[in-house]
Amino acid sequence: MMTTTAKNLADVVARVSAAARRASRKPEAVRLVAVSKTKPVEQLAECYEAGQRCFGENYVQELVDKAPRMPSDVSWHFIGHLQSNKAKLIVDKVPNLTAVETVDSVKLANKLNGAVEAATERSAGALRVMVQVNTSGEESKHGLAPGADVVALAKHIVENCPQLAFSGLMTIGMPDYTSKPENFETLKKCRAEVCAALGLNEDACELSMGMSGDFEAAIEMGSTNVRVGSTIFGARNYA
Ligand SMILES: *Cc1c(COP(=O)(O)O)cnc(C)c1O
Repeated sequence: MMTTTAKNLADVVARVSAAARRASRKPEAVRLVAVSKTKPVEQLAECYEAGQRCFGENYVQELVDKAPRMPSDVSWHFIGHLQSNKAKLIVDKVPNLTAVETVDSVKLANKLNGAVEAATERSAGALRVMVQVNTSGEESKHGLAPGADVVALAKHIVENCPQLAFSGLMTIGMPDYTSKPENFETLKKCRAEVCAALGLNEDACELSMGMSGDFEAAIEMGSTNVRVGSTIFGARNYA
């Protein structure tokens, strides 16, 4: 018997594939990050049993606690705000940390680079990083304002952080659906600027955008990495 979580996962996987096909893209061109923050490891294990390997967490301590309790072939994405003084902890404690999607300062990039360089147990090779862009302009959101700062940070990572693999841009966007296309368009525009400035092919620069409420729209707009939590794991309870 399939568990509710496994059923939800299968449904999201099917919706990801269908959205990719509608946009004439291959389903494999879109990575599904199962966002498991606040959810118990037992529920993550149900997803793992059903074939999911990529999981996203927002809080350092929660990731550090959960990672050793899951199989080592899980690919962990950190998607929350990361203080630079936690870079070493997260890299050291999570050898299979494959991506940090929320890099928003030179200081954090340098700390991550140093941590990977010093790490002795790392199994995931170079650490993939994305630059977080605040496309909605809301003060509550982290990330850099679209424009020159985004290009400068991407350039810094490519030129000065050999242990990091710059892999693209990430945004959260507005919860209000009607204004979302604008936020996603802004991220695409940032990608064009970054790729032009660094001489990169756009295929080499991912777009992490789309969550439970809008991942299909995001895929149709070119997202390569969707972060879906509550639709898979159920509503979060922050008691
Ligand atoms: C929590 C979270 C998600 C998942 O949100 P859902 O709406 O539950 O799918 C995605 N991205 C980030 C950065 C998050 O913090």
